[in-house]
Amino acid sequence: DPAAAKKRGAKSVVAREVERLVTPGTLTEDSLLDARASNYLVALGRAAGQWAVAWCDMSTGEFRVMSCAPPGLPAALAQLAPGEILISETMLETPELFELFAEWKAALSPQPVRLFDSVAGERRLCALYNVAALDGFGEFGRAELAAAGAIVEYVSITQKGKLPRLAALSAESEDASMAIDAATRRNLELTHALSGGRKSSLLSVIDRTVSGLGARLLHARLAAPLADPDAIARRLDQVDFFVTGTAAREALRTALRAFPDIERALSRLTVRRGGPRDLAVRDGLALAPRLRAILDKPGELAVSGETMAALAAMSEGLGQHEILAARLAKALVPTPPLFVRDGGFIATGYSAPLDEFVTLRDESRRLIANMEVRYRGETDVQSLKIKHNNVLGYFVDVSERNAAKLGDGFIHRQTLASAVRFTTVELGELENKINNAAQKALDLEVQLFDQLLGEVTTRAEDIARLARAAAVLDVASGLAQLAVERHYCRPLVDGSQDFDIRGGRHAVVEALVESEQKYVPNDCDLGPERHLWLVTGPNMAGKSTFLRQNALIAVLAQMGSFVPAERAHIGVVDRLFSRVGAADDLARGRSTFMVEMIETAAILNLAGPRALVILDEIGRGTATYDGLSIAWAAVEHLHEVNKCRTLFATHYHELTALAPKLDRLSCNTMRVKEWQDDVVFLHEVIGGAADRSYGIHVARLAGLSEAVLSRAEEVLATLEKSEQSGAVARLAEDLPLFSVPRPSSQTRAAGKTAVDELRAALFSTDVDSLSPRAALELVYRLRAMLPDE
Ligand code: ADP
Ligand code: MG
Repeated sequence: DPAAAKKRGAKSVVAREVERLVTPGTLTEDSLLDARASNYLVALGRAAGQWAVAWCDMSTGEFRVMSCAPPGLPAALAQLAPGEILISETMLETPELFELFAEWKAALSPQPVRLFDSVAGERRLCALYNVAALDGFGEFGRAELAAAGAIVEYVSITQKGKLPRLAALSAESEDASMAIDAATRRNLELTHALSGGRKSSLLSVIDRTVSGLGARLLHARLAAPLADPDAIARRLDQVDFFVTGTAAREALRTALRAFPDIERALSRLTVRRGGPRDLAVRDGLALAPRLRAILDKPGELAVSGETMAALAAMSEGLGQHEILAARLAKALVPTPPLFVRDGGFIATGYSAPLDEFVTLRDESRRLIANMEVRYRGETDVQSLKIKHNNVLGYFVDVSERNAAKLGDGFIHRQTLASAVRFTTVELGELENKINNAAQKALDLEVQLFDQLLGEVTTRAEDIARLARAAAVLDVASGLAQLAVERHYCRPLVDGSQDFDIRGGRHAVVEALVESEQKYVPNDCDLGPERHLWLVTGPNMAGKSTFLRQNALIAVLAQMGSFVPAERAHIGVVDRLFSRVGAADDLARGRSTFMVEMIETAAILNLAGPRALVILDEIGRGTATYDGLSIAWAAVEHLHEVNKCRTLFATHYHELTALAPKLDRLSCNTMRVKEWQDDVVFLHEVIGGAADRSYGIHVARLAGLSEAVLSRAEEVLATLEKSEQSGAVARLAEDLPLFSVPRPSSQTRAAGKTAVDELRAALFSTDVDSLSPRAALELVYRLRAMLPDE
């Protein structure tokens, strides 16, 4: 406090001390945080051969832990998108481990090993919650204690012992949510578009929340869709209520718009970094009864027992805050300032002594105004003013020309180019009085602030619960708003293996194309008898869009949202994979084809019977026959081994030759209309196979010159005459599954002998002495040396 130092004398030294370490994962300032996204501090713990990640958002108090083996780590990190990752220094020395953090190198924060000690961790947690044992919180493994303990210690170190309110540590289970790896998240553009921003991501399109609290919860839910049908149904019940309850939905959304971010305010208050404005949790507390009233009166709506239970649970979380709310309402001015040191935040009538000091202060200020008028009369200088600045305090200010007119009582203080400044004994005395009163008022305000702060922080748990309830309500009513606006339906998610979408749409593309044309809905049925769909069709026909829309519908359904479809029945998906062929990953220095193959390998290894796999043009990144063979083998593997629900888009229409052999494979294609040498894409998925790729048509649409196009058509005709596709069809008949001999090496051997013969024949000919007729005979002979194909 520099003011205190000044009192002791201008030269005295201000005491200095490290107050806090500012790190990316421990921020609480609104100006440094995104109001609509969480900022996670993550710690990785390892003990007794087990692994765990713990995460906490210091700005909201959220605190969780999950045991998680290293292979699951990238997916967990992708879900959390941490701002900072605590990892023990020794772990960095293991290259395989380091590789797991490849995408998060910038967030890594290596720490001494002792931070991750599980015994010390348990002790720290007990101290944090002031309990003798953690049994009341659940059962935690050693690795979990190590990770969570590291978080507590790190927060304590950076905050210099001022621990923020951390929620009761809760243990998450890795299989409670749908596993989605980083590549799939990116590819489906769940929370961020491929271009980087949040715009045109799924999140941006479905977000109708009206508060930062709600926006953060929606983000977290989208990042971790559930895998338990009952839990999903409970969330859908809430949305359902607000879909039918239009009045309740609108009333609630109006109320929530005024709901302040009490979660982050509370965190700042608990680390004593909050100011009077953060006491605006008052406005949140005051709104609680209004929210409850909306939930308590579902009106004439016929709501089911489940819905009533869901409403009751939410309204219970709102809690009872009347006393504190009334107190804060009485104590604070309507819009308190940001900083305590500015004062002026305690309302008149709350504290009698404060009011007295304030009156004294303001009264004296009035006396100054009177004094100014009196001095003007006495000196006959009408432009005389009494001013104030921080250096001189109060002073009499006149122009140089008028300075001489002032009498003896005026003591010179300062001469400036434009003015001369004086003081008087009387003014000095009054100033002292004002300063005293102002200082006393401020001191008292600071004291009152501390009292109010104490009252708020002792009720921190209840306030946090209210914040949570408000967030849940915001998400439920926001998703309902979305469902009503965009005609989404309630999905049925159960334990079956079905995947039956009727009239499905792509949430994002639909929102984008809306203005120009109508989005064409499509069905998708990946039931157990046809769980692998091969989707063929030309470029630009809508294959990728169709694939993704079904993945997005699964994500939306399992996060507890209605979905863009007429009807949706989904057997719960435990893992979602989405890959696009030849995606560039230059940043990580891998060839595109290599990336494609690594990702495909991961899918073939990991996809179990409950997985949903989206493969878009796998095998595109290499030569045609290579690519076709890889795609071919992958389809067989998915059908025979993984047996998971799969959508496989490919421009290799040759793959449809597999249909007769794989009985659970269903061939589908995009409808295309040919019209006067042009193609029209109808964006409609129908049974069957595309017979050609229409590449040249697409090239024409793209504006390639007519000369190039007609030459391309010529070449195509020649190539088609060689009947490659016929050969592939024969191949499909001949090849037994999974025992693919190597046709490539055979052909190569045959080719080699023919070429050698040709070469021998040619070199043994004296070309110069050939008659036209002998030349003709030679050509016939050479031709005969080559095999028919
Ligand atoms: P493909 O993967 O077959 O090359 P895309 O899925 O990339 O085709 O689709 C090309 C474009 O067609 C998209 O950008 C979108 O604007 C449009 N489109 C796709 N599906 C539909 C649909 N069902 N209704 C309307 N437009 C669509
Ligand atoms: Mg595509």
